[in-house]
Amino acid sequence: MKLELNDQQKMIQNMVKEFAEKEIAPIAAELDQKEEYPTKILEKMAKLGLLGAIIPTEYGGAGLDTISYATIIEEISRKCASTGVITSVHNSLVSWPIMKYGTEEQKKKYLPILAKGEKIGAFAGTEPNAGSDLGAMQTSAVLKGNKYIINGDKTFITSGSEAGIIVLFAVTDKSAGPKGISAFIAESDMNGYKVGSIYEKLGINASKTSELIFEDMEVPKENLLSKEGEGFKIALSTLDGGRIGIAAQAVGIAQAALDESIEYSKQRQQFGRPLAKFQAIQWMIADIATRIEASRYLVYNAAYVKDEGGRFSKEAAMAKLFASETAMEAVVKGVQIHGGYGYTKEYTVERLFRDAKITEIYEGTSEVQRMVIASNLLG
Ligand SMILES: Cc1cc2nc3c(=O)[nH]c(=O)nc-3n(C[C@H](O)[C@H](O)[C@H](O)COP(=O)(O)OP(=O)(O)OC[C@H]3O[C@@H](n4cnc5c(N)ncnc54)[C@H](O)[C@@H]3O)c2cc1C
Repeated sequence: MKLELNDQQKMIQNMVKEFAEKEIAPIAAELDQKEEYPTKILEKMAKLGLLGAIIPTEYGGAGLDTISYATIIEEISRKCASTGVITSVHNSLVSWPIMKYGTEEQKKKYLPILAKGEKIGAFAGTEPNAGSDLGAMQTSAVLKGNKYIINGDKTFITSGSEAGIIVLFAVTDKSAGPKGISAFIAESDMNGYKVGSIYEKLGINASKTSELIFEDMEVPKENLLSKEGEGFKIALSTLDGGRIGIAAQAVGIAQAALDESIEYSKQRQQFGRPLAKFQAIQWMIADIATRIEASRYLVYNAAYVKDEGGRFSKEAAMAKLFASETAMEAVVKGVQIHGGYGYTKEYTVERLFRDAKITEIYEGTSEVQRMVIASNLLG
């Protein structure tokens, strides 16, 4: 088994790395401080085909494999974790379920728009009383004539205020529990679609996270994704793939913390020597680097199994669990290596410290990942 990216994957990784260094790194801190959505960056990414990374070429996408996609999310997140999650949601949580479960008409209508970045995608699952327990959602969808009438509130929706195409989940049969949930493709200009509060957050501040409110929202019958009652299954399988993206985002954040820490520890002198000469600092660097390498291979492994068509829930959960906990360890040690300066906004590691935490929470908390892994092992 050769544990190496192939030539095409390396080329994509290098191209995105160069792009992120040139176009994202110079403005990432400013976007974070101003809590500004990275619209211009996304436009440039769309031109490079990165918003349609996984969409097949016949629908206007780049048709890339999941390992290439993971390298894209890692390199983007290494410079701006907010742009990383927007890209991951757009590809994994919106384009993918339409690719996998959409009718030919739905694919032809929505995938080219998503691939060109003409509209950004959002995934509306979570509700005020249904987070980890997504099956407890209450948003309702009632078929009237040729339209579903949707009522309810979604919360914590990445790009909720910016998105044009939303994969959303609602209950079509209250008596059936999670088996009564259905998936829909909604558009933000549909009657009854409203953006609620936009949250002030600890980190990933350039990515807008909002409430969505549906008041008698009219969604055409033909926008049902798959069949009634298939929504929970669609949500879970979509989140399996999404976790590879978030794990890659975590690797990007961790790698950035390592990059910053290596550079700083070589420059900063104390006791007449660079910090890098002290064993305590060397061991922190060694520990972070080792965990990052292991995380990256877990991500590639999950991506590989997905592309081979195998079941990859366990692999994706392991990758997300380990990579997100690695990101937290990397930023905690990264700030420590920077000392007092690491606690100020003058150093990138402060932003990384705030950005890392969310990777342990969204698309399933670490506790949920452990539940997924354990249930795969124990039945
Ligand atoms: C910035 C941000 C962006 C997000 N983007 C999106 C998005 O685009 N789309 C979307 O649908 N959602 C999104 N979310 C929601 C996110 O997926 C949820 O916050 C997450 O799944 C956890 O749900 P919760 O917040 O309701 O926490 P809860 O489910 O209330 O969990 C609280 C705590 O209890 C633990 N817990 C819960 N149940 C168990 C159990 N059975 N055993 C052990 N521990 C348990 C959890 O692990 C956690 O530690 C986003 C959230 C944030 C903060």
